[in-house]
Parts: sequence; C-alpha cells; structure tokens
Amino acid sequence: MGLAEYRKKRDFGRTSEPNGEVKTAEKQGLYVIQEHHATHLHWDLRLEHEGTLKSWAIPKEPPTVPGVRRLAVAVEDHPLEYANFAGVIPEGEYGAGEVKIWDHGTYTPVSVKDEKWVVEIRGEKLQGEYVLVKTAYGKGNSWIFFKAKPK
Ligand code: MN
Repeated sequence: MGLAEYRKKRDFGRTSEPNGEVKTAEKQGLYVIQEHHATHLHWDLRLEHEGTLKSWAIPKEPPTVPGVRRLAVAVEDHPLEYANFAGVIPEGEYGAGEVKIWDHGTYTPVSVKDEKWVVEIRGEKLQGEYVLVKTAYGKGNSWIFFKAKPK
C-alpha cells in the first residue's frame, strides 16, 4: 500500500505527525494502539508489516479478554515513526484532536494472510494471541478484532 495515501491526507507544515519513509531495515515487530480523540473517540491499532504500520481504527476500547469482538476499520498505512507519536493534531487538519499512546510493545505474526491475521501481542494492556478477520460488511475495509481463547 505504501505511504502515498497517508501523505496526501496531511499537511506536514501544520501537523506534528511524522512524514516517514517505507523502511526496509530489520523488522522490530512494532505494536501500538493510540487513543485518538478525533470527532469520534477511537483506538488506532498499528502493526509493523513490510516497512510500514498496518492500521485499523477501532470505535470501542480494544478487548483485553476473550469473548469481546470489536469492529476494526482498515485505514491507510502509517510510517513506522508513527508508533511513537503522541500529541495534538491541529484543528482543521485530518484527524484533528489529541492522540495518546494507549498501549505499546511488540508482536509476532503467527499466521498473516490477506483476510485473516493471527498475531501474538506483547503489550502492557494487550497480551497473548489476537485475531483480525476481514468481514463482508462495509467497503471491504471492515475487520473484526478479538482475543483468541486460550488453547
Ligand atoms: Mn485515528
């Protein structure tokens, strides 16, 4: 996907969000969830994949226990530097509002396919195996995010 859509939406002269490059360096397995106080409060799940952060917007607080399913809307890839971003996106800019880091750490892909990701998350709030599954709803960008039941 690359970062073209990410850049198109933002004016880097106004927002303090990073304008990064797609990274080819060694994978760090970055995982972060940002609490984003935009027009509608949501949580942005980001997982490092092929040099950018794959990103999903989750309208309700992410689940810490199995049995809770959350809608996760796939959004544009973000640069890896975004994993450290916290601050206020100015009024009038895309995503205006405060961004806080809600959880962070690393993850390991267990099985990553086009329509289903199984990942082992090592954060402070989220720990263990999580699943992202693409659904037939919406414009093809709707996924469901949940914690897997312990085996
Ligand atoms: Mn957001």
